[in-house]
Amino acid sequence: SGGIVFIQDITKVRKLEQIRTEFVSNVTHELKTPITPIRGFIETLKNGAMNNPVVAERFLEIIDIEAERLHELINDILLLSEIETKLKDTNLEIFDLKSMVDDVFKVMQNIAKEKKISLNNNVRDEVLMKANINRMKQLIMNLVDNGIKYNVQNGSVSVDGYREDGKVVISVKDTGIGIPSAHIPRIFERFYRVDKGRSRGMGGTGLGLSIVKHIVNLYNGEIKVNSVVGEGTEFIVKIPCQP
Ligand code: ADP
Repeated sequence: SGGIVFIQDITKVRKLEQIRTEFVSNVTHELKTPITPIRGFIETLKNGAMNNPVVAERFLEIIDIEAERLHELINDILLLSEIETKLKDTNLEIFDLKSMVDDVFKVMQNIAKEKKISLNNNVRDEVLMKANINRMKQLIMNLVDNGIKYNVQNGSVSVDGYREDGKVVISVKDTGIGIPSAHIPRIFERFYRVDKGRSRGMGGTGLGLSIVKHIVNLYNGEIKVNSVVGEGTEFIVKIPCQP
């Protein structure tokens, strides 16, 4: 049976190597994507477009957007590699979930307003959690951000939170476009997008849900998705957490 274990190990190592190679090639591709227009528009500006202030301003705006995307991408890649190498989180503090969701909403308020999406904090009173606050904010922020991005005008994103069987349950529910069921098993993979063109246009890095999944794993939690195309999506996170 030792031989079988050995063969399984080799298969596992190969599989990991393959995932790693794929990741590096994806990262390279994703990093190049904003750099191409940045260099292109700089070149055009140097070749005379600068003489037309209206055109120049439009090109600078594009360069700015692409540079911002690059910045987000690098931040997400760094964050992912940081949490991936961790087995447990550090800097745990006790905090109130409802006020934390209020803080997250403050950051998201402007993007939500632009898209006419209302944000509802339905977290119950006195749900106390012990965790790394920044990490939990990141988790909720990524889910709310998606809830806003993949929503429709006058839609909403509602966050609920409560205790159940020694776990804190956090639900983030939107009234958006939904996810076709065939795609659901893959949405937590790095850079996986249901609609590549559409998601890129919205400024996503394709890493948001992998970051969420890794944070959930860091706390031995679980995450589930319920989604109906054209009606909306609900992400439910359960994290073991003593009262
Ligand atoms: P992205 O940066 O592209 O949003 P994510 O990892 O956050 O990357 O999500 C992966 C993909 O899952 C998205 O591109 C989108 O197709 C789909 N998705 C995630 N959240 C939602 C949602 N709330 N409603 C509809 N589709 C979603």
